[in-house]
Amino acid sequence: MDAAIYTTPDPDLRELLAARPTLRADAIDGLCFEGVPLAAIAAAHGTPCWVMGVGTLKGRARALRAAFTDAGLSPSMHFALKSNDLRATLVTLAAEGFGCDAVSGGEIRRARAAGIAPHHIVFSGVGKTDAELDLALELGLAHINVESAEELRRLSVRASAMGREADVVLRVNPDVDAATHDKISTGRADDKFGIPFGDIPALFDEARRLPGLRMAGLAVHIGSQINEAAPFRRAYARIASLVRDLRARGHAVHIVDCGGGLGIAYRDEIALDPRAWAATIAEAFGDLDVRLAIEPGRWLSAPAGLLLARVIDTKAMPEGSPDLIVLDAAMNDLARPSLYDSWHGIVPVAPPALHAPCTPHTVVGPVCESSDVLARARPLPRLEPDALVAILDAGAYGAVMSSTYNSRPLAAQVVVDDGRMACVKPRQDIEALWAGETVPEWFAA
Ligand SMILES: *Cc1c(COP(=O)(O)O)cnc(C)c1O
Repeated sequence: MDAAIYTTPDPDLRELLAARPTLRADAIDGLCFEGVPLAAIAAAHGTPCWVMGVGTLKGRARALRAAFTDAGLSPSMHFALKSNDLRATLVTLAAEGFGCDAVSGGEIRRARAAGIAPHHIVFSGVGKTDAELDLALELGLAHINVESAEELRRLSVRASAMGREADVVLRVNPDVDAATHDKISTGRADDKFGIPFGDIPALFDEARRLPGLRMAGLAVHIGSQINEAAPFRRAYARIASLVRDLRARGHAVHIVDCGGGLGIAYRDEIALDPRAWAATIAEAFGDLDVRLAIEPGRWLSAPAGLLLARVIDTKAMPEGSPDLIVLDAAMNDLARPSLYDSWHGIVPVAPPALHAPCTPHTVVGPVCESSDVLARARPLPRLEPDALVAILDAGAYGAVMSSTYNSRPLAAQVVVDDGRMACVKPRQDIEALWAGETVPEWFAA
């Protein structure tokens, strides 16, 4: 993930497009996403602007389901809503049979508002407040993925006070290194997530004496942007042996939630095929007679979204440094490059620019931070002010991580599908940035 580890040259614009069939460079209209010219979206809705491809999203949802069907599995599919929480996204995926994995009370409420039934919502997260646990209990979610012994005891207290029974899955920390970026690894012993592998049996024993709990199974999620089968295989093998262990101690284990984490090719990575992921799950749990669940986020949503931006200015730099391209999109819109050193394809929208000779550029946003860099030494054609660019694979951990830093309103969100477009979330009003703020009356005195 870290830009410093790339040793191959950046893919060129043609290679980027060849790997993304729902993006097409038209000789007249320029870059089109699902048949809609990006220039038309910019003209109608301004920039910066998130564009979500509904057809791309549906296609990926179906491919993922088919990968599991081919492996002889039919897991419950819970979309990790934190990767893209747009209502249009949730409704699209719900129509494809996906529920949600929520990590806060806010996400549970958002899933409900999008029409997702409580029994299709799973609640994960390392710090669930009493109010959030109460909400989950009131609604009767599919299961609550508990992350500590303390949380389990607190859940028992809340559930019995409400006269309810919680369906509990324990999130195991399998102590497996997912070999991904440090900031998106979650399954090592010293990561904050999950319950240590060795503590699980005693906790199942303890739960027998705790009221308000129905112990249902185990969950594991070792990190994100994983493109090798081996870390999944290691983690799932540990969970499978734990299931056998628990059953030998007389505990019923009905559910294994395999988490998410499947990676994509942002640059020239060889992405793990979802069929290979499904195969590791079939191999580990196929003969265990458990109900399987998965929680994919990025794999579904990342390639279905892009961030459309406009060049504000270019800036010549001293000899030896690449010239700058200053966009109207910045780290407050797409935080991933500054947060994780992540690489996103950047493609000019206008037809001539797609075939022009390229030289290295540094692509930055206007935010007053040195880390507001979207790409370094990126081969791009000479772009003039007002030129449009598409920042690719921005559908996961993109708009959801936006802030209003530098008093920059949240960008508009548009969906496209088979030649149609609609704005589904208008650009935030500037006044909304300070709405509700007051100063105490005693300031005047
Ligand atoms: C973030 C998260 C996911 C989704 O991860 P992706 O890498 O986007 O697939 C799944 N489960 C849990 C518990 C998570 O926190």
